[in-house]
Order: sequence, then structure tokens, then C-alpha cells
Amino acid sequence: MTEPSKNDWERPLAPAILHGLRGRCAACGEGRMFGRFLKAVPTCACCGAAWDTHQADDLPAYVVILLLGHILVLLMIEVNSALAIPLGWQALIWPTLAALLAVAMIQPVKGAVIALQWSKRMQGFR
Ligand SMILES: [Zn+2]
Repeated sequence: MTEPSKNDWERPLAPAILHGLRGRCAACGEGRMFGRFLKAVPTCACCGAAWDTHQADDLPAYVVILLLGHILVLLMIEVNSALAIPLGWQALIWPTLAALLAVAMIQPVKGAVIALQWSKRMQGFR
């Protein structure tokens, strides 16, 4: 019987989250975590860690909504206090910006959530 390597036991949170934010394998930081936009690869091509067992569910979307709300409200207040943009333009700008930021944020946030679950041995990573 082979003894488990150090990485099999220790799963430091901060590096895992940083790897997940970059869309990289939380275990080794080299392989890709996602095969498609939000579809985790079954296993890391570099270290073999299984990623299709995650149960991130809706948490990434909730986190994106929470972060996006804070970013957009701050931006709206700052922009409206500095500039006089007509309401018609604002009705176009803010929803478009919200959609673009949500698309930009969802994969990194999902990677971080999966990395958190892996690091804490939650859900499918026991
Ligand atoms: Zn890996």
C-alpha cells in the first residue's frame, strides 16, 4: 500500500481559491478546471484530481449577484454624482454592464466555489 502524498492530506485554502479564480485545478494549479464555460472537467489532465464531483449548484450565481449588486450600486452613485447622464442612456448602460460583468465573473467565482469545496472536503470532495 502506498502512502498518500502530502497533497492528498493538505488542501490549503488560499492557493486553492486563487487557482480556482484563474480557472485552474485547485489541487495543482496547472490543469484546467473547466472544459466548457461552466462545465468542470471530469479530472485534471495534470494531477488527476476529480472535478465533476463538485456540488457548487447555485452558490456561484448568488455570489456573483451579491458582488455585482455592490459594484453596480457604488458605480451608479459615483457616476450619477459626477455626470448628468440622461435616464434613457442609463436604462441601456446599467443592465448591459450588469450582464457583461455577470458573464465575466461567473466562471472565476464558480472556480473559487469549487476550490473552496475541495479545500474543505465539502460535498463531493470528502
Ligand atoms: Zn490538477
